[in-house]
Parts: sequence; C-alpha cells; structure tokens
Amino acid sequence: YRAASQDSGLVVINRFTELTAFIESDGDVARATLEALDELTSPDDGAIHISNRSKDRAVPEASFGDVTPELISLGALAACPGVRRSGLYVTGNLADRLAVRCPVHVAISGTLACIPLVALGEVVGAVHLHWEVMDGLPLDLRGAVSRIVEHASLSVANRRLVAALQGQASTDGRTGLANSRTFDTAVEGALKARSAGEPLAVLMLDVDRFKAFNDRHGHPAGDEALRALAGVLRSCVREHDLAARYGGEEFAVMLPGLDAAGGASVAERIRSRVESTIIQLAPGMTDKVTISIGVAAYPADAADRVELLKVADAALYAAKKRGRNRVVVAG
Ligand code: GH3
Ligand code: MG
Ligand code: MG
Repeated sequence: YRAASQDSGLVVINRFTELTAFIESDGDVARATLEALDELTSPDDGAIHISNRSKDRAVPEASFGDVTPELISLGALAACPGVRRSGLYVTGNLADRLAVRCPVHVAISGTLACIPLVALGEVVGAVHLHWEVMDGLPLDLRGAVSRIVEHASLSVANRRLVAALQGQASTDGRTGLANSRTFDTAVEGALKARSAGEPLAVLMLDVDRFKAFNDRHGHPAGDEALRALAGVLRSCVREHDLAARYGGEEFAVMLPGLDAAGGASVAERIRSRVESTIIQLAPGMTDKVTISIGVAAYPADAADRVELLKVADAALYAAKKRGRNRVVVAG
C-alpha cells in the first residue's frame, strides 16, 4: 500500500508540475492544486486562498465540497496553524476538545490539513483540506501534498515577478503613470486605429519653476508634488485617454477624438485643478505648483507622431515665455 501511494504521489506531482507551466491566473493555479490534492488524498471538502496584488486580502480562489470560503484579511489568514508553523499542519481529530482549531476553515469533526503557500519567504495564501473521518491524511502522502503546494506557491510567485517586471518597463515607478515609451507607442497606435477624419489632441505639460520648488522644500517634497500632479492628471482624463510622465517634471496627455479646441478645454481644466490643489509635502507642510501646457492636434497641426509632439512642445515653450501657468494652443 505504501509503495502504491508513493507512486501515485509522484505521478500526480509530475502531471501537476507540467500543467502549472501553462497556467495564466491565480484562479487556475488554485483549481489545479485542489484537483491534484483531491486525486491524491480524496478529502470531503477543501479551499484555497491566495493573497491579492495589494497584499491585504486573501481571496478564496477555489473550493469544493460543502464549504463557502470567505474573503479574509491577511491578518486573519496568519491565525491558521499551518501559516503559523510555515508548513503542513494536520489535526487528526477535530472532535477532540483539546484539538487545535483553524479559524480559516471551520469544521467540528474529522481531519483538517492546513498548508501555507509560501514563496521566497512570503506567505501568499493557504490550502485547507477536510476529511469527515479521523486521521484522514495518511502519513505517507504528506510529503507529496507539501510538494504540490510548494509548487503552486512558486507558480503564483513567478507570475507576480513577471508582471512586476513588465509593469516596471511600461510605467514610471515614481508616479505609476505610463512612461514616455508607452506614451509614444500609444499615440502611434491611436493614429493608426483612428477612423478617417477623426482628430487626436496631445498636451505637453511642464511644472513651472520646479527647480525653485526643489530648492525650497527638498527633492523628496518635489517627488511628492509630482505624485500629486499624477493624481490630478488621472482624475482629468477619460478611459481612452492616456496620461504619462514624459520626463523629469514633464507630462504628456493623449486625447483621441479631440481637436485642438477640445484639447485646450481639457488642458484648461487640468491647469486650473493643479493651481488649486494643495499638496501635502510633509506633516504640517503644504505648498502648490502651477503648470504650463502646450496643445496640438492631428491632423491640423502635424502629419505624424513625432511632428505632433514637437508642435505641442513648441506651444508649451510659448506658454512659458508668455508668463507660465497658462495653456497655449499650437498655430
Ligand atoms: P520652468 O518654469 O522654466 O519649467 O522652470 P523649471 O525650474 O521647472 O525648469 P528647469 O528645467 O530649470 O528645472 C527642472 C527641475 O525639475 C530641475 C529638476 O531638479 C527637477 N526635477 C526633474 N525631475 C525631478 C524629479 O523626479 N524629482 C524632483 N524632485 N525634481 C525633479
Ligand atoms: Mg522641464
Ligand atoms: Mg519646469
């Protein structure tokens, strides 16, 4: 019996490992994990929680049997005996009054196995399996159960690393806005995808006298101001628009479907919101910044992306020359 169950353990592990190489989401990892564990150990019910991206909640990604797992805080997950022990924890008889209870998976009798999902030293979730009978998880299957869950943890962690790397390449780390590369690609794409006769406006924005702001408050406060600006931009654009941090204290906005007049009115809204935004720089310290904006539109002002941005930049330069804190439309 022992040899047979160890063989079947290896077979399930190998098939599960193969499958996880093709998996795209946490939900798919969770379902495959429970299926592999079910095949190996035949529990009566089970569930798997995986932490969300902001790492504050454990989401019930999959379950089977007569249970409805809930969305819980990571703090609540930390009370699971498996998570506390950083490894498989089996309670062989839940009906025993002295048995260890798990607040995540509540059952009154039978066997409970709590297995944390740990990758690179970090808890990313937990698996719970329950059998109605006492001592439902034979000792010789426990190694295989741990291996499967370890592999599931790595699969979750790997996809997060890849997503983080891709994110870093397309967004600006300081503000979370798109970077200039993403912006350029998006403008190219929008110019190609637009229907005949449809305009596209771009705004180039630059913070006024930002060197003096840094000198006054220090560079970290300057960074805080850039983040506040990014927040204003996000709140001023529609779903198909794109706001980007184009360079140090320069931003760009793409507005598909708008001509120069439409772009100018969005620009004016951004300018006036920035002017009236009180930026919290440190406890008890606030200040404001203003921005200058240049507006240009395709096809009236330019024949391609490079020229469009150049013309918008020239309008921005004119806004600076005319005294800053203003919008200038190209032409
Ligand atoms: P103008 O109104 O003509 O744009 O004046 P300005 O001082 O904003 O222009 P200038 O080009 O002389 O200086 C830009 C300043 O922006 C200098 C630089 O230190 C600051 N800056 C650029 N990137 C960052 C950043 O990421 N963080 C902070 N804190 N400051 C930055
Ligand atoms: Mg500048
Ligand atoms: Mg500036």
